[in-house]
Amino acid sequence: LSEKLDSALHLLKGHGSITEVNVAETLKEVRRALLDADVNFKTAKEFTNTVKEKALGQNVLTTLQPGQLMVKIVKDELTELMGGDAEGIDLSGNPSVILMSGLQGSGKTTFSGKLANYLKNKKTKKPLLVACDVYRPAAIDQLHVVGDQIHVEVFSDKGNQDPVAIAKAGIAHAKANGHNVVIIDTAGRLAVDETMMNEISNIHKAIKPQETLFVVDAMTGQDAVNTAKAFNDILNFDGVILTKLDGDTRGGAALSIKSVVNKPIKFIGTGEKMEAIDVFYPSRMADRILGMGDVVSLVERAQEQYDEAEARKLQKKIAKNQFGFDDFLNQIQQIKKMGNMKDLMGMIPGVGKMMKNVDIDDDAFKGIEAIIHSMTPKERANPGIFDASRKKRIAKGSGTSVQQVNQLLKQFNQMSKMMKMMQGGGGKKMMQMMQN
Ligand code: GDP
Ligand code: MG
Repeated sequence: LSEKLDSALHLLKGHGSITEVNVAETLKEVRRALLDADVNFKTAKEFTNTVKEKALGQNVLTTLQPGQLMVKIVKDELTELMGGDAEGIDLSGNPSVILMSGLQGSGKTTFSGKLANYLKNKKTKKPLLVACDVYRPAAIDQLHVVGDQIHVEVFSDKGNQDPVAIAKAGIAHAKANGHNVVIIDTAGRLAVDETMMNEISNIHKAIKPQETLFVVDAMTGQDAVNTAKAFNDILNFDGVILTKLDGDTRGGAALSIKSVVNKPIKFIGTGEKMEAIDVFYPSRMADRILGMGDVVSLVERAQEQYDEAEARKLQKKIAKNQFGFDDFLNQIQQIKKMGNMKDLMGMIPGVGKMMKNVDIDDDAFKGIEAIIHSMTPKERANPGIFDASRKKRIAKGSGTSVQQVNQLLKQFNQMSKMMKMMQGGGGKKMMQMMQN
């Protein structure tokens, strides 16, 4: 998808301004990209129309390429459509009652646990989970397993077939026992039907929750929209929970749902574990739908942190063959300023998922820094100066070994050579070196 978008935006490059013609071409591609991301047709069409109006109304800033401007308009508009700023849930009641709704398998029970855990960790909240899925005894057990995991009490009444009565009893139990949040897990069915709708509607009417949440599996794509509409018609719910976003779905459903039912998406589920819950950020989802990962914020962050003047100074030094260990240290600090290595890597599309289980040592640079700190100023400025006794002294001072010092010196030499070649326009030489 991002490739398509790239090529769509490429169409705009080279044109001095945004005109009706190049916008039309670009938007055709953007629309196609959205459809690929599971955004429904009507939404995609409306979206591109809005973008078109905005784009044509823009005064093209001379500094901004039309292509960049379009990316910005598309992204801003997507973000806006999905709800602007993240919205929380209403916890003003005492207790605050939160009702879960959605199809079977959408992730209601799992999310009930995640939300309880999330709120419990806020310290001021003491949640109670209430099991109103009365059709399968296993469903009640499942909620108890979840509750045990997160140390949150679960109210249930096995054998009682009346979910309305259980919900009421659960709320009464919460009041009597000092719970200030009640999360009511309900039964779903595989598809929207009257029985389910009547039941959830009856519970809703009887307990008048502060917050009614509709839980939907992001992987169901287009169907998610129809389901959302059916539930919203009956419940007029307050917010949407989009689960299973840890899969490779693009999440276009988020955009369609928001635009069809006009309710905010409040949280997302990103895994089966109790910790896999995130507040919904429209701008991140916009990136995801556009297939850009968090590249935009990665670039922004890098730009913020990297001092341009510093970069120019460095270039001069390299040209004059004056690049020393102090500069090297400086570089490392620049990289570190950009943030946690793992976070940074995770923002690169495709890498995020890979990184989940990899333990990157944020202290990867520590050894290198220690070695450089143990060098004298003279040594730092003269990388050629190191003999055996200097190496030994540095190893001892930095708590490393001569072998590690040697390794760093070697890497540093290679790097300096490389930098010089790039500066000297020695592209050919470098290619040769890389092939050897
Ligand atoms: P319910 O029928 O609506 O209560 O759905 P469940 O909470 O029982 O979830 C159905 C299945 O989806 C279970 O196997 C869950 O572990 C899984 N599940 C729920 N949320 C997520 C999620 O965010 N990511 C993933 N990968 N699986 C999830
Ligand atoms: Mg369930």
